[in-house]
Amino acid sequence: MAAALRRIGFDRVFDTDFAADLTIMEESTELLDRVTKFLNGEKTSLPLMTSCCPAWIRFIESQYPEYLDLPSSARSPQAMFGSIAKSYLAEKMGIDRKDLVVVSVMPCTSKKYESSRSELGEDGDQDTNISITTRELGALIRRMNINFDNLEDEDFDEPLGESTGASVIFGKAGGVMEAALRTAYETMTGETLEKVEFEDVREASYGIKVAHVDIKGTTLNLVISSGLANARAIMEEIKAGNPNNYHAIEIMACPGGCINGGGQPYHHGDESVLFARQQALLKEDEGKAIRKSHENPAIKKLYEEYLGKPGSEKAHHLLHTHYTEKTGY
Ligand code: SF4
Repeated sequence: MAAALRRIGFDRVFDTDFAADLTIMEESTELLDRVTKFLNGEKTSLPLMTSCCPAWIRFIESQYPEYLDLPSSARSPQAMFGSIAKSYLAEKMGIDRKDLVVVSVMPCTSKKYESSRSELGEDGDQDTNISITTRELGALIRRMNINFDNLEDEDFDEPLGESTGASVIFGKAGGVMEAALRTAYETMTGETLEKVEFEDVREASYGIKVAHVDIKGTTLNLVISSGLANARAIMEEIKAGNPNNYHAIEIMACPGGCINGGGQPYHHGDESVLFARQQALLKEDEGKAIRKSHENPAIKKLYEEYLGKPGSEKAHHLLHTHYTEKTGY
């Protein structure tokens, strides 16, 4: 893809998964902060709900606006990437943010809507200028007459081109939760996680999965849910007072997560295609030299050089957002 995008004419090609690692840094910090407050008897908002799926966010904003304190304020990978490109990268390149056109390639039609949200830009310049789907990218590659199969592999550009196994699994239901746990565990205990796979949060059936993960005596009650009918069922449970004491909930609008996104190549109802995509992500994760977001050297450098630490004031300004009640569907 990097090679094809350069043939199409893009000056630089970066990796969205880099921004997925960044999302984990901020979201796991927020999860730990809220859980710690809860354990200390302080007021906080639990369960923390993931926020990287814009269709789910639009759903809660219109259907359950009284619960907008629950989703993490961390922006999605697309939104974080745009923000960092238009600040850190633009400064490094010595150009004005308005002279940089950020185009993202996403599995998702809803990301087009997200890129236009007024919170995600500055002075009328959106952080992500154009968002296209993977299906549209395929069409573009064909239209440009690029022989994709014969292209030699090329690397992403630096400094936003390095990613870990944790970020790769974002694309499947349960992946965001597992990636967050890899970082939250080590931050919470100060110990190295020897086995990075959290099999319990791996969702195979595209429904609602409840998991209980023990982190050194603290049990986290977690839910993995995909599909908006299931999101509604979860929200009704929250409305009933969260009787199962959930601490964190991952919600993806597409059944199975982004592997089944509305912008992906059609699978015509053949679920074996989804299974193959899921397995491909797990294999890619297994093959990565670094599998925890906080160990990504490019992420470490970004915090050292620019953001300070996760949850810092600057990180909040650039990497977090807020939600507002919306009317209609
Ligand atoms: Fe987009 Fe679907 Fe992924 Fe949500 S789950 S971010 S709607 S592709």
